[in-house]
Amino acid sequence: MRYYRGRFPGAEVWLGGIYASLLPDHASLSGADVVWRGIFPEAEDLMPAYDLVPGWRATILFASRGCVRRCPFCAVPDPIPPPRAGDPGDPRGGVSSVTPF
Ligand code: SF4
Repeated sequence: MRYYRGRFPGAEVWLGGIYASLLPDHASLSGADVVWRGIFPEAEDLMPAYDLVPGWRATILFASRGCVRRCPFCAVPDPIPPPRAGDPGDPRGGVSSVTPF
């Protein structure tokens, strides 16, 4: 949090992900302006801002997310919904687009 506050002074800082979803009270001690639990719907269709990373020559994609199993020691299935099935006829396995650069 200190890093982002220093790097982007004045910006509103949101904290999310598995940690924030499972332990929001602890996560709020970080000083984040917002602690977000679960999936952030508005971000589902956004592309990462690769242009913010000088020299970045790769891409990031989710081939799957979440898990259909419920191993008793694992936190993944709680905050993240089980994976959605892609179109079985789609050889890309549910990847809707890939943007080369
Ligand atoms: S450890 Fe977690 S992610 Fe792995 S199979 Fe079990 S529930 Fe799924």
